[in-house]
Amino acid sequence: MENVDGKFIFNEMHQKTEKFSIPKEYRGNFDDFLPLDLTEKEKSVLIDIHEKSKLHNVEYGASIVNGKTYTYTSNKYDGVLPPDDVLELIESSPPKSVTEFHTHTNLTPFSRKDYTYLLKKSIDKIVIIVYNGDTYVAKVENGHVPTKSEYDDKVRQIRNEVIRDIKEESYSQNWTLDEYEYMIIREQAYRIARAFKWELQGGNIYG
Ligand SMILES: [Zn+2]
Repeated sequence: MENVDGKFIFNEMHQKTEKFSIPKEYRGNFDDFLPLDLTEKEKSVLIDIHEKSKLHNVEYGASIVNGKTYTYTSNKYDGVLPPDDVLELIESSPPKSVTEFHTHTNLTPFSRKDYTYLLKKSIDKIVIIVYNGDTYVAKVENGHVPTKSEYDDKVRQIRNEVIRDIKEESYSQNWTLDEYEYMIIREQAYRIARAFKWELQGGNIYG
């Protein structure tokens, strides 16, 4: 498992430099997702962090807490964390009252780590916007909130299954390495949400 994990992390980093790596048949294809359901305020927060992220080529994040928007960056192309004061606000907020946003400098949907926000009681939903404007929303809604160890175990199992299943599919033979890596992350994001019965929305914010 270590080897698979090690290789995967390397590939994920490699992909950060590749902007256009979605297999043709999946570009603009959100058939597996519910349509985006965002307020005007949420859209404007997303467009703001997307523009900042593209300009500086680092991830940006935003949190809406008690109706107030906090925007930040950790100046990294592959991660962003709320500053300590925002994190404290998030932790002390009522159940399902906070919306978390961040950008990806590449095209991939939610990572395993992104989803761990949903294990926090105060988080209502998480939203990401990737390089080309593709946008994803995840919510627990009537689904299950696992413990951290339950989550980690399930995700490990799903990762292994996804890598095995995609390798076995004949259509994957036509994909480039970047496309193949994108599909592993996309499929993993989809199956993790499905495993916990979370709601998953997808679409491009610019239509
Ligand atoms: Zn992320």
